[in-house]
Amino acid sequence: MIVYLNGEFLPQEEAKVSPTDRGFLFGDGIYEAIPYYKGKPFAFDGHWKRLQDGLGFLRIDFADHDEEKMKKVFDELLNRNNGLQQMTRAMIYLQITRGAPPTRSHVFPVSNGTVVKPTVFATCQEIAYPSPERWTAGFSAALVPDQRWGRVDIKTVNLLANVLAAQEAKDKGADEAIFVTEDDAHLITEGSKANVFGILKDDANGGSKIVTHPLSRQILPGITRNMVVQVARNAGLIVEERAMTRAELTEEAQEVFITSTTTEIKPIVKIDGKVVGDGKAGPMSTKLVALLRSQIEVETGV
Ligand code: PLP
Repeated sequence: MIVYLNGEFLPQEEAKVSPTDRGFLFGDGIYEAIPYYKGKPFAFDGHWKRLQDGLGFLRIDFADHDEEKMKKVFDELLNRNNGLQQMTRAMIYLQITRGAPPTRSHVFPVSNGTVVKPTVFATCQEIAYPSPERWTAGFSAALVPDQRWGRVDIKTVNLLANVLAAQEAKDKGADEAIFVTEDDAHLITEGSKANVFGILKDDANGGSKIVTHPLSRQILPGITRNMVVQVARNAGLIVEERAMTRAELTEEAQEVFITSTTTEIKPIVKIDGKVVGDGKAGPMSTKLVALLRSQIEVETGV
């Protein structure tokens, strides 16, 4: 595996980061995961904007790494890693931390009068996708209290609560973790690594509607989430951006699915052991995957 670190391409085992790196000591950094289909990025602008928003929030100066320069880095990475360029689905992982100052101190580091340069790391991997049969059979989820900090809209590398939630779900025999607020409202925010959607009955028209948490500080503005909302609306489907209650998700939803760059749309057919809908991927999830795939095809040709 060849990785990119601070301007160099080198074998992963030779890529070394200082023990005083702010990402290691404080989780002081952000990351991005960008999908590539046969070497072509999908929704690159959205990923790049979210990255810039995160850098702005953290006040990390990344101005000397513009979009064109980084796109060349990503192309080169895919090229140097055993045909990932040709892979149907691959992911670029990019991480930027506040750099490695000589000593540990909470405030932003300055060394010899200049701001310490950020550490820039990028790697890539193939994204494996479940077989159509596995996808249709669906996946399970466990509900986990949302104990994250107040700015989870920023894609920081501070993923401790997400890591613990994912492990809690695994320990319970579930594939995914879904966060619920700890207050009396018991609202669904998102997954430990994905956004959450429910298909609910729409009393107004007798059909169904797609419900997902609105963009706010309580969820990551998932690029796949935004894409699904967009393709659904373009197809004339009803999308309601509001928080679902735990009861709506577990007792009323006809279908539930999660979205992310690595999973696209993943049907959830069991939550805390309780079957959702008829226990397999439903018609709306199937329709939305088709719509998302055609959008991917328009942009990447794949
Ligand atoms: N929510 C969380 C907490 C995530 O970690 C992720 C992806 O990593 C997402 C949502 C989905 O975001 P995207 O669709 O941009 O991959």
